[in-house]
Amino acid sequence: MKTFQRSATLLTILSAGALACCVSSGSWASNAPVQKPANTSKAPSISYLRCGTLLDEKSDRAQKNVEVVIEGEKIKEIRPVSAAAPAGVTVIALPQETCLPGLIDTHTHVLLQGDVTEDDYDRQILKQSDSYRAILATQAVRKGLEYGFTTLRDLETEGAGYSDVDIRNAINAGIIPGPRMKVATRAMDVTGAYPIQGYRWDWPDWPHGVQLVDGADEARKAVREQISHGADWIKVYVDRSYVAKPDGTLDDVPTFTPEELHAIVDETHRERRRIAAHAAALHGVHNAVEAGVDSIEHGMYIAPEDMKTMVQKGIFYVPTLFVGEYVAEGRAAEGAPVWKQMISIHGDTFKRAVQAGVKIAFGTDVGGFEWTINPAKEFPLMVKYGMTPAQALRSATANAAELLNMQDQVGTIEPGKYADIVAVSGDPLADVNVLQNVNFVMKGGVVYKTSH
Ligand SMILES: [Zn+2]
Repeated sequence: MKTFQRSATLLTILSAGALACCVSSGSWASNAPVQKPANTSKAPSISYLRCGTLLDEKSDRAQKNVEVVIEGEKIKEIRPVSAAAPAGVTVIALPQETCLPGLIDTHTHVLLQGDVTEDDYDRQILKQSDSYRAILATQAVRKGLEYGFTTLRDLETEGAGYSDVDIRNAINAGIIPGPRMKVATRAMDVTGAYPIQGYRWDWPDWPHGVQLVDGADEARKAVREQISHGADWIKVYVDRSYVAKPDGTLDDVPTFTPEELHAIVDETHRERRRIAAHAAALHGVHNAVEAGVDSIEHGMYIAPEDMKTMVQKGIFYVPTLFVGEYVAEGRAAEGAPVWKQMISIHGDTFKRAVQAGVKIAFGTDVGGFEWTINPAKEFPLMVKYGMTPAQALRSATANAAELLNMQDQVGTIEPGKYADIVAVSGDPLADVNVLQNVNFVMKGGVVYKTSH
C-alpha cells in the first residue's frame, strides 16, 4: 500500500494509500558472487534434493525421506530416497528439514523501503532518483529471495516509473539474484487522490506515486501504455479516506467511477492481463468487485454481499494483515487514529472471508514496511484470525500461483514445475512461525541460500 496522506480533518486517508546439506555447482548461496549460473555442458545438470520431510502438492500432508530429482531448472521426479547417486549428480541432503514449495508474496513493493509516515514516503519520492531506488530494489529482491519468496507480484513502483520492469528483466537475465516477478508498473488513481500532495500549488509538476488518469478513454490509454512498457498486471486504487463507523463497517471515498473502472478492467482483460484493486473499504470494494477485478488488495472491510460476489466470480482476497498492524501506531501518532480502529475491523473481515470460502492469496505489502522485516510475519496473523496453518501455507503456494496464473509453473512440488523449493527446521503445519526462518532456498534448480 502506499498508503496515506493527511487530510484537513485529520481523518486517515489510505489514499492510496512485507539443514544439513551439501551443495555443489551453481550455488548462489549467500556470499557467492553474483553471476548467472553457468551450465556449459549440453546436457542439463541433474541434482537430487533429499528431504527428511516434504509437504506434498496440497501443502497439507507430509511425506518422509523424499528425493526430488531436478533436471536443469525443473522438477523431474519425486520418489523415495535412493541408495546412491550416479556420478555427475549433485546430491543436496536435508535430512533434518521440511521442504516445501517456494513461497509466493502476491503484494510487494520492491521500490519502496518502508513508509509508516507521510514523511517516509515523500522523502523517497522527492529525494531519491529512480536510479537510486532501483539500486535499493536490487537489495530488496535479494532479501525477498533469501527469506524464501521465490515468486513475487510487485504491485507498483510508487513513482519509480517502469523500474520494476528493469528489475524483473535483470533477474530473468541472471544479472542480479531475485524471485520470479510479475510487475504492475505505475498503477493508476484519479486526480487529487494520491500522494504526493499538499505542496505548493503554483508548482504544477510534483511527482506522484501513480499515473493519474481521469475518464474512461484516458484510463484505456494508460492500460495500453503500461502494458506496452512491460506491465504483467494492472493495478488501480479504488478508494481512500477511511472512516470507522460505529456499526463496525469502514466507510471510504471511492476514486474511479464505475464507468472508468469498467473501462480499465475491460481493457486489461482484452489484453490478456489481470488487474489488482487496492480496495480497503465499503464502496471501493463494491465497485471493484462489480467491475470484475481479479484481486482485492487489503480489503479491511468487505460487505457480506460483496464477499458472495467474490466467491461467485472467483475474485481473490489479498488481505495484508501485518502491514496494517505495523503502521497503526505511527499513523495514529501523526493524527490518524483510524489505523488502530482498522485492526479489529480487518481481523473480523478476514475471519468472515475464511468462513465464506473466499479465495485468499498471501500478500504482505512489504515495502510499506522495511525489507529488513521478514514478510513471513503475515502467517501467524492469518492463523490468529481463523486459518489453519495448512490453509495459510497454501495461500502462499498453490493459491498464490493460481492468482498469478502460474499454477503450471510454481506453487507446488510436482514434476514439470520449476524447482522452486525452500526448507525449514520444524513443522510449519504445527507452527507457522518456522516459516520466518527459511534456511534453504532453491529457485529454478539453483541454490541461493543454505545454512550448511
Ligand atoms: Zn501496496
